[in-house]
Amino acid sequence: MTNLTALTIATARDKLAKKEFTAVELTQAHLAAMDRHKHLNAFIAMTPDVAVARAKESDARLASGKSGALEGIPLGIKDLFCTEGVQTTAGSHILEGFVPPYESTVTQKLRDAGSVMLGKLNLDEFAMGSSNLTSFFGAVKSPWKAKTRSDDLVPGGSSGGSAAAVSGYLAMGATGTDTGGSIRQPASFCGIVGVKPTYGRCSRWGVVAFASSLDQPGPMTRTVRDAAIMLKVMCGHDPKDSTSAPMAVPDFEAVLGQGVKGLRIGIPKEYRPDGLNTEVAALWDCGIQWMKDAGATIVDISLPHTKTALPTYYIVAPAEASSNLARYDGVRFGQRVEGKSLDEMYSKTRAAGFGTEVKRRILIGTYVLSAGYYDAYYLKAQKVRALIARDFTEAFEKVDAILTPTAPTPAFGVNDPQDDPVAMYLNDVFTVPASLAGIPGASVPAGLNSDGLPLGLQVLTKRWDEETMFRVCQVLEDAAQFPFLKVTP
Ligand code: GLN
Repeated sequence: MTNLTALTIATARDKLAKKEFTAVELTQAHLAAMDRHKHLNAFIAMTPDVAVARAKESDARLASGKSGALEGIPLGIKDLFCTEGVQTTAGSHILEGFVPPYESTVTQKLRDAGSVMLGKLNLDEFAMGSSNLTSFFGAVKSPWKAKTRSDDLVPGGSSGGSAAAVSGYLAMGATGTDTGGSIRQPASFCGIVGVKPTYGRCSRWGVVAFASSLDQPGPMTRTVRDAAIMLKVMCGHDPKDSTSAPMAVPDFEAVLGQGVKGLRIGIPKEYRPDGLNTEVAALWDCGIQWMKDAGATIVDISLPHTKTALPTYYIVAPAEASSNLARYDGVRFGQRVEGKSLDEMYSKTRAAGFGTEVKRRILIGTYVLSAGYYDAYYLKAQKVRALIARDFTEAFEKVDAILTPTAPTPAFGVNDPQDDPVAMYLNDVFTVPASLAGIPGASVPAGLNSDGLPLGLQVLTKRWDEETMFRVCQVLEDAAQFPFLKVTP
């Protein structure tokens, strides 16, 4: 039998329906792979018992002909999604031991569609980071290795466990969340597809909040088709999330193969700053050529407020985070460190429970929201955010989609010096503008650099136009013929 972990979701779905193997066999193959690759530290918790039980239920439904859209498909769940009866940590010590009594809307939908949860995936603490180095549960290692160095590389972040698990064949797909790039950047670093849908497309209910006006769940998979299949299941209106939009869910898979003939693809000049990594720039040029070859028209565009996006994001996101994280006070969730007074208990709990990066964000966020600085920072950032969104609105009057690199560099080393937080924030330079504007964005693995490391290209479209985004992504994927990792026995 072929190695079951190498299959795509689409192929496994068809083969399960034809009874070529069972959901239990497919799940067992992934559980065995997870065991063999424990050193990647992709999972905070493996849930083999849950997985096998759900796979058995899937086999029963497959036998009775009542199967769902993801029946029997083994998936990893980022440990930011609350899962009923299964510990949910957000990668933080403060939530260690928290077992939610409820299921997030997105994971409930995945469950209702018949998918099998393999476990909870590692992430940067509270999804703050671009490397997975801030997780309380330790760094995740990318399954990729550079040709010229033997040390471990980061998978990107914050959905680093998701990216490592999917690229390393430990899961057929995974959930991610993207606040400023946390689906797209790790997808780029690990050579997989990552989709951040329009803000409001997927419910945030039951997803541990980082920055509520930016957070958005999405799928991470090895192919564009698999991402389309997963996203269709994950999205849809949820009355429990007031920012979830009452929009019909398109059949994203149905548009694949429609091509890009006649589409206008925008190339924003601000995404080619002086000093851009030459291999990233070259791959972007390649992507532009692929679009032309497929019959699209290339249009040079300008998004003039691009350079303000990073500083704006690093005001808005910490501001919202400082407010959202106020609830971790030792009273209701997770860890508590006793003190002589209530105030002392709060401060000791928070001092012991949060890591350095989270504390930095809380301090920045509290500062920009404080009475004397609110107008100068937070209010100003909100105004600039509106200008960034307007840049995109104007651009989409001229073009149907925008093509850019996903990240400014390939993956870096787990042990590379990380003494400058601002250097880490620069990873997000190409992803945060779309987050601030609330538009959909996807990263497609487009090639390798000379050191053998994956690089992704990013596709952006206007709000609610994921269908055009998927069409462009499919053409990139077909043209790139990306050299995936080989499945290791
Ligand atoms: N790297 C960004 C940050 O640290 C984005 C994180 C995310 O999208 N969750 O804020």
